[in-house]
Amino acid sequence: MNGLMMNTPLLISSIAEHAAKFHGDREIVSVTGDNPCHRCTIGEAISRAKQLANALGKLGLKQGDRIATIAWNDYRHLEIYYGVSGSGYVCHTINPRLFAEQLIFIINHAEDRFIFVDAMFVPLLEALADKIPNVEGFIVLTDEAHMPETSLRNVLCYETFIGAESSHFDWPELDERTASALCYTSGTTGDPKGVLYDHRSTILHAYASLAPDVMGLSSRDVVLPVVPLFHVNAWGIPYSVLMAGAKLVFPGPKMGDGEALYGLMDSENVTLALGVPTVWLALLQYTEKAGKRLDKLDRSIVGGAAVPRAMIEAFRDKHDVEVRQGWGMTEMSPVGAVNTIKAGLEKLSPDDLLDLATKAGRGLYGCELRIVDDGGNELEWDGQAYGALQVRGPWICSDYFKLEGSAGSHTDDGWFDTGDVAIIDPQGYMTITDRTKDVIKSGGEWISSIELENTAMGHPAVAEAAVIGVAHPKWTERPLLVVVKAEDQDVSKEEMLAFFEGKVATWWVPSDVAFVDELPHTATGKVKKIELRRQFADYQLPD
Ligand code: AMP
Repeated sequence: MNGLMMNTPLLISSIAEHAAKFHGDREIVSVTGDNPCHRCTIGEAISRAKQLANALGKLGLKQGDRIATIAWNDYRHLEIYYGVSGSGYVCHTINPRLFAEQLIFIINHAEDRFIFVDAMFVPLLEALADKIPNVEGFIVLTDEAHMPETSLRNVLCYETFIGAESSHFDWPELDERTASALCYTSGTTGDPKGVLYDHRSTILHAYASLAPDVMGLSSRDVVLPVVPLFHVNAWGIPYSVLMAGAKLVFPGPKMGDGEALYGLMDSENVTLALGVPTVWLALLQYTEKAGKRLDKLDRSIVGGAAVPRAMIEAFRDKHDVEVRQGWGMTEMSPVGAVNTIKAGLEKLSPDDLLDLATKAGRGLYGCELRIVDDGGNELEWDGQAYGALQVRGPWICSDYFKLEGSAGSHTDDGWFDTGDVAIIDPQGYMTITDRTKDVIKSGGEWISSIELENTAMGHPAVAEAAVIGVAHPKWTERPLLVVVKAEDQDVSKEEMLAFFEGKVATWWVPSDVAFVDELPHTATGKVKKIELRRQFADYQLPD
């Protein structure tokens, strides 16, 4: 027998309607290429999203067509999120930091019909224009006064495009499984793969994000997403924040600028900030140098890569800011686990609490987790066993766009194989020890490169560290620590290695240290281990 409840579809447009009605006066502050401090309200942004929907309706698009963005975090990008997805088209966010070949591949693979582009990325597209012949036009995200000279064909100015349109628009009643957004994984190997979100998965993920032990979002919050709108929908922030009615502060092109981020946090009273560890490194370096304190910030959600213990400690002890580590993937919308203190653990010593905070987090309701051995057998959550981490749930991809059935990413019983290796402790806290392909196997035993990196990052002279396996005649592989020294700091090889004593098992201590000026990074700011392994392919370890 079925229940007698309404089968109301979960649609992104319903967030727009809710936000305009209940939090229409909440502010959105943006840094943009054409305005260092733009202010509008959620209500105004939703009205403009409807003007955009009306304008898109005149382009001869059909439902499911892909419309791309190459843009920073600001109010216009937010309007596109709602105007495009709400109308039944697919909002394809593109990372401008990808290489030209990857951009060409992605735009052609997605069959993008139009591209919304920030004025500063116009030259990027001009260089590719003859390789993306199917794109029918480009809409530059600015007003007439700031339109750049360009060789691109069929160029429109965003403000003119939407300017004359009505702000009345009846959102279509879509099926909740309708595709809403598309994001390609940065793909360190092979071609990038497209993850196609739908309205239902987006709403469920946003709902889950609001919970106190996830992001704990409320209408009293002021949220600064430094995580880009072009990377996994900025962890769902455009949806969850409009559900909750928090104030939004968008940093635009200032994402990696510690001083600018501090300025925004201070002047706009930001309570919650979200980003990858590299971004916070820049912020913490700035506050240290300038002698500033993050007085207004309450918590920061840090994920996308393991968060170094020293970073969590600096936030906690110097700024009284709670770091919530999160773990997830593009394929998972992205949130799969978040680290908050479980009842009963509050009384741990400050040191033990720090240790706890270095873990990737506990699974949240809606995302099932399991670890399995090479034979696919489920492993105990005993804090010891390492295994391939697999996940299942309504906001996790069931396949990749146009690769249906051929990516080999899912198990026969319907779980997604994340490619991460993890340990889960009896309390449910998970530690990511490696990507499957980054695992270091020494004498048949696994060594966690992430744990070694975190330990190295605790040394004051280390700005960034990465650990890779290099060939060894006896042990097959041994860990090599690659270090970028902090500005004006020095440390010797011997001092660096001595720093590991008592912190990790003796046989885990790296066999050597190499100092470099910088590490190679992916387009999303993660260390590109594949490139690092290539650079050190012939490295000779000392005897
Ligand atoms: P992406 O799809 O680009 O967001 O990358 C997802 C990958 O980032 C995951 O599969 C992990 O390897 C890594 N990752 C994300 N969060 C964490 C974390 N808290 N600790 C360690 N690795 C992480």
